[in-house]
Amino acid sequence: MTIGIWILGDRLDHNQASLVTYQDRKHQIPVILIESLNYARQRPYHQQKLVLIWSAMRHFAADLKADNWLVSYEIAEDFIEPLQRWIKDNQISELVITQPCDRPFYNYIQSLDLACQINFLPDNHFLWSREEFATWAKSRKQLLMEDFYRQGRKKFNILMEKDKPVGGKWNYDKQNRKPPKKNLSTPQRLWFKPDDITQEVIQHIEKQDFPKYGDIKSFNWGVTREQAKQVLEHFITECLPNFGTYQDAMVTGEYTMWHSLISPYLNIGLLHPMEVIKAAETAYYQNDLPINSVEGFIRQVLGWREYMHGIYQYSDAEYSNSNWFDHNHPLPDFFWDGKTTQMNCLKQCLTQVENTGYAHHIQRLMVLNNFALISGINPQEIENWFHSAFIDAYDWVMQTNVLGMGQFADGGMLASKPYAASANYINKMSDYCSNCIYDKSDRTTEKACPFNYFYWDFISRHQDKLKSLGRMNLILGNLKRIPETELKQMNSLAQKWWNNSNH
Ligand SMILES: Cc1cc2nc3c(=O)[nH]c(=O)nc-3n(C[C@H](O)[C@H](O)[C@H](O)COP(=O)(O)OP(=O)(O)OC[C@H]3O[C@@H](n4cnc5c(N)ncnc54)[C@H](O)[C@@H]3O)c2cc1C
Ligand code: SF4
Repeated sequence: MTIGIWILGDRLDHNQASLVTYQDRKHQIPVILIESLNYARQRPYHQQKLVLIWSAMRHFAADLKADNWLVSYEIAEDFIEPLQRWIKDNQISELVITQPCDRPFYNYIQSLDLACQINFLPDNHFLWSREEFATWAKSRKQLLMEDFYRQGRKKFNILMEKDKPVGGKWNYDKQNRKPPKKNLSTPQRLWFKPDDITQEVIQHIEKQDFPKYGDIKSFNWGVTREQAKQVLEHFITECLPNFGTYQDAMVTGEYTMWHSLISPYLNIGLLHPMEVIKAAETAYYQNDLPINSVEGFIRQVLGWREYMHGIYQYSDAEYSNSNWFDHNHPLPDFFWDGKTTQMNCLKQCLTQVENTGYAHHIQRLMVLNNFALISGINPQEIENWFHSAFIDAYDWVMQTNVLGMGQFADGGMLASKPYAASANYINKMSDYCSNCIYDKSDRTTEKACPFNYFYWDFISRHQDKLKSLGRMNLILGNLKRIPETELKQMNSLAQKWWNNSNH
């Protein structure tokens, strides 16, 4: 039997099962990496995402060659032609692949007409295997993230003192929601000047005539494991001590605050979640860091990331079509060109995404997603946009974050209430409203902030459904106190917004 290994663009890790299994025969084992132009044509990807993946693949292939693997690197229209040729040339009888996370790509591989058998090895880039998550999920009525996270803390013995959480509490989130102060001094971040390989990839992408999104010239993400490790190290020393306090704050021109910027690397295998968690835990003990920051950060990786992946694998393909509120408005054009909207919060976040492919969690959830939810944009349209626009986007992380958490399209499988908010929240947590042409306190006149009238329009349109979620009772009580004429004005402003093509 002749083994061949296909390394996928989001599994650039020497420790993945396929490479580790055949490590002792590496000089005899053909390995292939393929850049497919047709894959990049599937959607208008952020150009920096394409640069990241293709440059990281080229660097990884060079590392494998230097390590004596028999590497073929193909730049092709599609995956199939180079695969068939390579299988024939090397007389491969078994193609070994780390099982892809994304369901559509897994199905695509299975549909390929190849003259050999395919052997998927388990993906070891998450801490919980799919089977372990399913066992956890089947044993309970509600799949609460907090329960899952606590189980993970015990299972992996992270921030634990015997069977109790370090510091006495599992969760310090209450300390992590401070609004931004004036003149916050945010840490300098570590960026990388594109090297020759990255420059080549940039030129290659610039030459392609398929639809693309975002700025390519400002690319300065890391593209190797070494650089990803440096980003992690820099985060731990410079940002982790204050990660918690302003975790939810948004400030004009401050793209990154104290966030780690590691999702692009974690999601393609340049970092492993356990090394990230261990780095934070070690810094907590060695440098006496505040528990709210360290626990808050570890919860993101050990809790949220694992949970979102687990739910994706646990649910079926139908999840991607969910639309609990039956929202069907099209995505407004300004999502593709942020400077064309006058809503300053959206303009700031969208321009930032165009420039970098990145926004932090609250910008994603409480500005971009919130607007889509309360204005009634179709969940699949906004999910498609997120998938195109973000440097760290993949099917497994999009479905649960955008459809589940952001749009509540799954009717509450993972969130207990929709993340919907008016200008009140955005004004409290950012400085965006002070530079906006709309009035953050107005909800009924031409100057009213669209987030205000869309919010109450959303609550009133869906009050019957929202009643079934216990946690919405307070808001529904507030709805009842709004005079009918005022509510009608808001409903009509919402309608008018959609009738007006110039948003
Ligand atoms: C609408 C929406 C869309 C999102 N899209 C993506 C996406 O395309 N890719 C992606 O990796 N994350 C996504 N997230 C989750 C989260 O916002 C990003 O992981 C995070 O903002 C990445 O920035 P960071 O590395 O600086 O994160 P930090 O704030 O420093 O957090 C540390 C790490 O925790 C993990 N994490 C935290 N929350 C989540 C979560 N909800 N799901 C998965 N991982 C999480 C990430 O790996 C992240 O790198 C999305 C969240 C929302 C609400
Ligand atoms: S006033 Fe409204 S539209 Fe303007 S920045 Fe604030 S929330 Fe956004």
